[in-house]
Amino acid sequence: MQRVVVIGGGVAGLTLAYRVARAGRGVLVVDSAQRPGGQLGRHTVAGITLDSGAEAFATRGDAIPTLLAELGLDDRVVQPAAYPAWLFGADGRAHPLPAASVLGIPGVPLASDVAAVVGWGAAWRAALDPLIPGLIGAKADTVGELVRRRMGTGVLEKLVAPVVEGVHSRHPDEVPVSALGEVPRHMSRGTALAAAVRRVRDAAPAGSLVASLDGGLHTLVDALLAGIEKAGGEIVTGTTAELVDEGTVSLTHANGTVTRENGRIVIAAPGIAEPATTSPAHLVTIALNAPALADAPRGTGLLVARGSRVRARALTHLTAKWPWLRERAGSTELVRLSYAEPAELSTALADASTLLGVPLEAPQVVDHATVSWSRAQPTEPHPSIPTIGEQASGTGLAAVIAHAERTAKELIP
Ligand SMILES: Cc1cc2nc3c(=O)[nH]c(=O)nc-3n(C[C@H](O)[C@H](O)[C@H](O)COP(=O)(O)OP(=O)(O)OC[C@H]3O[C@@H](n4cnc5c(N)ncnc54)[C@H](O)[C@@H]3O)c2cc1C
Repeated sequence: MQRVVVIGGGVAGLTLAYRVARAGRGVLVVDSAQRPGGQLGRHTVAGITLDSGAEAFATRGDAIPTLLAELGLDDRVVQPAAYPAWLFGADGRAHPLPAASVLGIPGVPLASDVAAVVGWGAAWRAALDPLIPGLIGAKADTVGELVRRRMGTGVLEKLVAPVVEGVHSRHPDEVPVSALGEVPRHMSRGTALAAAVRRVRDAAPAGSLVASLDGGLHTLVDALLAGIEKAGGEIVTGTTAELVDEGTVSLTHANGTVTRENGRIVIAAPGIAEPATTSPAHLVTIALNAPALADAPRGTGLLVARGSRVRARALTHLTAKWPWLRERAGSTELVRLSYAEPAELSTALADASTLLGVPLEAPQVVDHATVSWSRAQPTEPHPSIPTIGEQASGTGLAAVIAHAERTAKELIP
């Protein structure tokens, strides 16, 4: 049986390769970076190794817990601190995000934490949802269309859009309703949108909706690499693959030599079969000497609504969010801001100060790091070559890993 050749050693490619190698089939992973893992990257800030990309996974579904248990990482799973996330509105005010919500869609539109964000007028409009005939919005393709029709523009733009953009880097009008998990299924049985949200929240397992690993999520990459090699798989880094035909790739190695490899090709990187559409994410991580942040004034961090004077799209207060990191960082505070365009440290520091509501000055900066990512948007899968990764499965580790696992099953003898 031909060996499997995986183009791209992000978490999708590595998960598939791990599964295929463990089942006894030969596998080669080719990654253009020096260190595989893709968006599960790492960097060092103030002497601490941090995630430079994804830092949490959604706890829904079995795929990630099963993989972590097999890799012996289940005892390192950590929950975030029980602080709320906040929203920084276009009006320049910060509010905790409503507790009972799915991607910002409120389960109780007239709750005071909803009205505080969207205003009472928009909250009352959203509260009409159960009175609106079920047909309205029933055929909506996107989250934006669904929310606009059932709850109105106020809730959509002031609450749902910042949350969706924080997760998917796209406006809800560009995000399919499937991103709402079980919500559309409940609605297809005649449940109104808010009630469907409440059902999904009630059915969620106890504990946080996200988790991570003590030491950072990037350590999953190390475990996968070790698992693949132990099972006899091969990993080549610093090597760019190009598709020649359905069974052949051309590899350009770091020293400039070009070789060819035949096998059962799997595409696990964007832009291989056709040009990729990507959206950028630029992060600035700052280590601060700022005792005023020790009490987590904005919980685990904030999402920023469009139209705000702050350029950052989101801020994560890393040392407030992850107790393991708080312990490791001692009195140093770590915050991470994300932007659509590259941002200077001075901009990020000013934004952090505004968002956290605490004066922060340059002398308080202990260290900082910037990193830029491009995130693949969904594309049509290749008609005959298995395609995995976020361009095929949608963004987020829960979706990416589950899809890679399903695809691996089709390749296992
Ligand atoms: C800043 C940031 C924060 C995030 N936060 C979260 C989060 O908290 N929770 C969550 O679930 N998700 C999060 N995500 C999304 C998540 O990280 C991604 O959905 C997931 O890691 C994508 O994995 P992938 O394997 O599909 O792609 P990638 O990680 O992009 O991997 C693709 C790999 O292919 C390689 N490659 C590209 N072209 C070639 C080529 N021609 N030849 C060989 N190799 C090639 C690249 O080097 C890369 O290693 C975040 C992403 C970013 C950027």
